[in-house]
Amino acid sequence: MDERMITLTILVIVVAAGVYFMAKRKGGGGGGCCGGHAHGGHDADSGSDADAKNAKDPICGMDVKITDETLQSSYKDKTYYFCSSSCVEKFEKEPQMWIGDETDEK
Ligand SMILES: [Zn+2]
Repeated sequence: MDERMITLTILVIVVAAGVYFMAKRKGGGGGGCCGGHAHGGHDADSGSDADAKNAKDPICGMDVKITDETLQSSYKDKTYYFCSSSCVEKFEKEPQMWIGDETDEK
């Protein structure tokens, strides 16, 4: 066997594994707009913010923790919180559409 061929094969495997990992980390697939949450940097129970509140993302319906970093948008004197920037974008395009849906409880 050609030695260069083996080196090349190993390289391809390493690159493929890297790409696979990156894709997994981004949470490709999974239902809804947000898939797997990729903001890694959030503090996991550091204890300092015990009074953290939760809000409901009107776009995808998931609960989001309200912190200084939480994405938010105001509409008609109410503030809405979002899990991701894509949810904010959807909301700001057509706020009524999303809030209108929220009125009927499931
Ligand atoms: Zn969302």
